[in-house]
Amino acid sequence: MMKDRDLIQGNLQQAYFQITSNLSHLSYEESLHNMIKAIKQVLHLKWVGVYHYLRSTNSYHIQLMDPSNEINVLNQLPLNAISNDNQFGKCIIDRSSVFYLKLKDRNFSKVLVCFKAFQIDPTILAIVQSESQRLIMQLDQYYPQQINYPFLYDLSICIFTMKRKSSILNEVIDAIREIYPTHSLHLLLAHDTEVDYNFSVKSMAYTDDSTNGFGSKAFMTEEVQIEKRKGGAGEKLYVPLTGRQGVYGVIQLISKSCDVFAKSDVDFITHIAQTAGKAIENASLLENANLLIADLKLINEVTHQLNSNLNLTDITEFVRKKIKEVCRASEIGFIFQRSDGSYADVLTASTAYFKKEENQSLVDKLLKDIVHPTFYGKFEYIPTFPYHSLMIIPLRQDIHTYGHVVIMHEASYFFSFEVFKLLQSLIQHCSLALANAILKEELEKAVITDYLTKLYSRNYLEKVVINQMKTARMGSLILFDIDDFKRINDTYGHHVGDEVLKQVADVIMRFSEQDAIPSRWGGEELAIYTPNLSIDDAVQIAAGIREQVEERTNPTVTLSCGVSSWSEDFDDSVSELFIRADKALYEAKHRGKNSVVKRVKDR
Ligand code: GH3
Ligand code: MG
Ligand code: MG
Repeated sequence: MMKDRDLIQGNLQQAYFQITSNLSHLSYEESLHNMIKAIKQVLHLKWVGVYHYLRSTNSYHIQLMDPSNEINVLNQLPLNAISNDNQFGKCIIDRSSVFYLKLKDRNFSKVLVCFKAFQIDPTILAIVQSESQRLIMQLDQYYPQQINYPFLYDLSICIFTMKRKSSILNEVIDAIREIYPTHSLHLLLAHDTEVDYNFSVKSMAYTDDSTNGFGSKAFMTEEVQIEKRKGGAGEKLYVPLTGRQGVYGVIQLISKSCDVFAKSDVDFITHIAQTAGKAIENASLLENANLLIADLKLINEVTHQLNSNLNLTDITEFVRKKIKEVCRASEIGFIFQRSDGSYADVLTASTAYFKKEENQSLVDKLLKDIVHPTFYGKFEYIPTFPYHSLMIIPLRQDIHTYGHVVIMHEASYFFSFEVFKLLQSLIQHCSLALANAILKEELEKAVITDYLTKLYSRNYLEKVVINQMKTARMGSLILFDIDDFKRINDTYGHHVGDEVLKQVADVIMRFSEQDAIPSRWGGEELAIYTPNLSIDDAVQIAAGIREQVEERTNPTVTLSCGVSSWSEDFDDSVSELFIRADKALYEAKHRGKNSVVKRVKDR
């Protein structure tokens, strides 16, 4: 066995020596042919072939075979048949054993020599592998490097079928890494928002250190740049990814130690970069077309929804959802200027940040004077402000700005400019519907609000009570009448009378719980309907109001109050509830005014 091994090694070395002595008469391919012929003879094999890896099919394809092969060779070997870790091995294909040796050359990163045999000792395989690898390296040194067209062809087939820029770049970077495994490799990109790269991306924008100097120059001039590293420690190569319409980035390849780039290296990478640039261009044309279709679909869907007569809250909720889908913002606010211009209103559809009282002055500051759509990639003008990506889109009707949509994210450069343009057009399409919904809501409010006191109208209070008696379990009604109000008018004039009426209304408003309905019953008579409150609790509230009115009005007036209530335990009606409160009020007047009287239902 030992003898066998030595014999094989000796024979192979002799054959390979012959090959290296003859290099000047032979081409690279002929020398490679001689190599496999030698393997075949020394090992007594029936066939031997050289295979190259093709990324486009993810398998090894036959590249070279010995013409004297006696049986059919395999055309293709699947990648997964070949071990990742070992330099040689065995696989079973079509029920026969196929042995392979992995060899590397400067052109093709992965080369296999394969042969069929029943059994071969692994130590012999190891010898053949290392002798052949040595020969390949000698061939590499002897023959000038040529642009590896099969490799480029394979790569371009592969990347031209890809639909995404990031996939193309991932593949290209992988390919360059295979060929230059000891170099470090980076990509310089300007304004890129994609995140799924599996290599390091450097941003080219807004910095001007020396790296970016060469990178930007390659980008601007579309020409390869070579930067000598200090002290003769190798070179940095900058190759632009050029398409027909522009440059999409720059490949930066840094040699280790003191290697320099040969012209063939530069040409080769330039070819790859140009192929990649065109593939990216193709992909982005397709992507843009698809995006445009998606944008139109979105706008169509939104306008369709808006036409279906939604109220303000429904519309804004819907728009918020759509904005979130489009741009994954962390906060979205709808801030409206009411038509009287008095205050900015944060609509309920806004997200949490906008609803917090303490943030409102900051948001006001942000929106001040913004009448055009505004985009910030890196907002840093307010130091405490936690959001750095910002889009502010004013809502306009003719020349009037009636509000803003504010879209934010913590990270800088989170939104792309394309998204900004899309949202601008989306919100513009919603603008009329929003303005109408606001107008409608304000009108509805006006109908149910008393103009002088800003309390609800009597009509509205009656509607609420009718509805409540059908659906709730109990509630109370308090009627107020200002005592001797005629005298106020007579003494101070109607104008002062109006002011006092407003003062009383303010007290009543302040005492009303959130779901209570404070209203103007008519003239100087006011009322509160309190849902789910017992008669005695309502009397407490009335007493509090009576006391406050006496203290807070100027000129001072007093109130007489009548209280009634209903509960689901007894038969009752709206008019009876009103009559009881009215009777109680009459009794309070009768007892000498400035007092509270309740009237419970007769059983
Ligand atoms: P009482 O204690 O019996 O309720 O005496 P009063 O003077 O309040 O009652 P009366 O019903 O005699 O007069 C009500 C007055 O309230 C008459 C009316 O001029 C005045 N009034 C009603 N509505 C308004 C209003 O909107 N503004 C002003 N300034 N006065 C009003
Ligand atoms: Mg009255
Ligand atoms: Mg009165």
